[in-house]
Amino acid sequence: MPTIEGNAAYIPIKDFPTKIQRCLDLLQNKAPGYTIYLNLYVTKVRAARASGANFADKAIDIAKATFDSSDTWVASVLVHEAVHFWQYKSGKYKASKADEQEANVQQLATLRLIGAPENEITHMQKQDGGHADLDGDGKYTEKDYKKRKY
Ligand SMILES: [Zn+2]
Repeated sequence: MPTIEGNAAYIPIKDFPTKIQRCLDLLQNKAPGYTIYLNLYVTKVRAARASGANFADKAIDIAKATFDSSDTWVASVLVHEAVHFWQYKSGKYKASKADEQEANVQQLATLRLIGAPENEITHMQKQDGGHADLDGDGKYTEKDYKKRKY
């Protein structure tokens, strides 16, 4: 399991480890098969300005807006980002819509396994893989990353 690293600049330091640990435990208990990439590739989950997979630091970054969602949603985001690590490690990650769709499929399966509320499952089913591509140019780039607030 990854370690948990708070950052008071983004999320109150007392809240972050408690909730992230709860989410990791939820995955471990109800969807252990979906923790494989987390355990293999991710060294830490840390509070940050924007959510995403930071390959250089082997970290999953969690922003305040994501953190403030339900436990089931945050847990599913951890799996989503871990899938990007697997894509990256296997040399096929292109920050493309297809990469997002693949991560979304695993995220949806995770939501179902961990007993997420219906509205989260419905929301996930509506994603077409373009969520990270805020400027709509078909690529998830640094430019999009800087526009993200979630
Ligand atoms: Zn993604």
